[in-house]
Amino acid sequence: MSRCENSGTCTFFDSGTMAVSAEMAALRDCYCRDDKEHCARYLVKKRISQGYFLPEDQSLDQVGRYLMDMRPTDHQMARQLIGMMVQ
Ligand code: SF4
Repeated sequence: MSRCENSGTCTFFDSGTMAVSAEMAALRDCYCRDDKEHCARYLVKKRISQGYFLPEDQSLDQVGRYLMDMRPTDHQMARQLIGMMVQ
């Protein structure tokens, strides 16, 4: 597998000057550099790129806020967001 194409813009992959814990480094190795298709953030972003969005009471800004905090392992949150999305 290859590095995730979102790594240049993903705040999980590039957290700037923030210290990276051993757990974060391990998640980056596992998901960002190897298995993006199972990353919760990747799945939500992919859905958005396919033209899906949240209905009127949820804005994309809100999705952005969810994504800021979402970790690659937050699959339940990803399923909830994707379940609310419409095209
Ligand atoms: S956290 Fe997910 S979306 Fe972000 S770079 Fe890693 S694999 Fe890609």
